[in-house]
Amino acid sequence: MAFRPIVVVPHKALAIRAKEIQEITDAIRTLAHDMADTMYRAPGVGLAANQVGVPVRLIVVDVDYAYQEPKDKRKNPIFIINPRICASDGTCTREEGCLSLPELSVEIARGESVRVEGIDLKGNPLVIEAGDMLARALQHEIDHLEGVTILDYASSLKKSLYKRKLKKLGGRSA
Ligand code: ZN
Repeated sequence: MAFRPIVVVPHKALAIRAKEIQEITDAIRTLAHDMADTMYRAPGVGLAANQVGVPVRLIVVDVDYAYQEPKDKRKNPIFIINPRICASDGTCTREEGCLSLPELSVEIARGESVRVEGIDLKGNPLVIEAGDMLARALQHEIDHLEGVTILDYASSLKKSLYKRKLKKLGGRSA
């Protein structure tokens, strides 16, 4: 197990478009597993590589683990390289938080169900039809790969209040 520090705003890795992964190297596989360990420990339901300061197109999600009873806990991380949202249906608005934006929650309207395509860690094509929490987590993490965070969805008032709060939290950004 290896953990990596989760970066918080205003770290620049959170604000840039992550690069496509051209080749699945040992470094990418190690990054993926470190991201999963880091996500489970946080705990969180998803993590994008930007959030550990590596701007490449890789995400991990597991929306079940955090909610399972201790005796039923089973890790089932989904890793997606170069994920794309290919279809989206319906809309659903809910409050969301983010490990990179401590103490912030923002109401965000997202697709209710989505179809995401990408590549798994073995290099095989991966297609996921997702609804509910999984659809939301996937859209949230894919946003990170575009340099978009939940703060981008907040009203300008909420943004300025949050920026002031961050200053008070002080020096937590890496
Ligand atoms: Zn996030």
